[in-house]
Amino acid sequence: MQIELREAAAKLKSAQKIIVTAHINPDGDAIGSSLALVQILKLMHKDVRIFIDDVLPPNFMILPFVDNIERPNDNDRLTADLLIILDTQTDRIGRVFNMVEAPILNIDHHVTNTGANVDYLYLDPNAAATCEIIFNISKYLDVELTMNIARCLYTGLATDTGFFNYANTKSSTMRAAAALIDAGVKPNEIAEQMERKSLADFKGLVETLKTMQLFYDGKVVGIFVNEEIAKSVDSTEGFIDLIRVIDGVDVAFLLTCKSENLCRVSMRSKTVDVSKIARSLGGGGHIRAAGCSIKTSFEEAKQIIVDAIGEAIN
Ligand code: 5GP
Ligand code: MN
Repeated sequence: MQIELREAAAKLKSAQKIIVTAHINPDGDAIGSSLALVQILKLMHKDVRIFIDDVLPPNFMILPFVDNIERPNDNDRLTADLLIILDTQTDRIGRVFNMVEAPILNIDHHVTNTGANVDYLYLDPNAAATCEIIFNISKYLDVELTMNIARCLYTGLATDTGFFNYANTKSSTMRAAAALIDAGVKPNEIAEQMERKSLADFKGLVETLKTMQLFYDGKVVGIFVNEEIAKSVDSTEGFIDLIRVIDGVDVAFLLTCKSENLCRVSMRSKTVDVSKIARSLGGGGHIRAAGCSIKTSFEEAKQIIVDAIGEAIN
């Protein structure tokens, strides 16, 4: 059932024991929105735990409260008054879905979210980030936006908008960011932290760029984190942003080898709706930024994604 923001706030107020989670392959918005919400709920004297079923990229390890993020154990079974799923639908929260028995409140901004398997969905596809929604919901919750909460929210706003460059950046996004700066955020500090790369990841980036291939008269560009490169890097965050700028390119994609028969695709576009392509392959996302997993060999996955993008652009 889709609900209004005010009703979502009421759900937070009435629950006492709350579990918060966000998507696997966590990004700045998933982690930032979870950490901000958990701090808000703590200020409301809630009994709250936070689970994300994945490794956290190192750049986010400086965020306030990040040590409180737990990974589920296979045998754990938890009950709660509310399970809050942030920045994704139920299919990308890993083992948390089966671990927790509770009514589900899903808060998200992905246009592809169908609300499957949840009790309450607050979906705002106009929000640049789930962090923008958490900022908006905080106005109903009578809590002070501390500097630590603001830093988490700003991180998600900034990373999901390419530091306020992408088409999802609205005046409301900027107003939220301004309020967060008023609460003590230093934009340069967050930017520097998010841009940091280990030497190994940087070398991996160099190797990945060498794999660049153009398709369909240069309208599509792909780069490939094959098995060897994948072994040498911790994170491929930001790789795709470097190729999406090429003149004449509409769709840029990154194919990553995760394991023998599991590949990940990230897509970015200037005009084509890549969320449709992702959805056709079982994934999702936004019009200009989307992704999916393909459970097959690297070579076969490459053919599948190139064909799917070809169909969409022609
Ligand atoms: P990224 O390329 O940065 O991993 O993801 C781009 C956008 O698409 C993000 O908003 C992300 O949440 C979404 N996305 C990426 N992969 C998947 C997927 O496998 N399923 C769904 N539903 N969304 C995805
Ligand atoms: Mn997001």
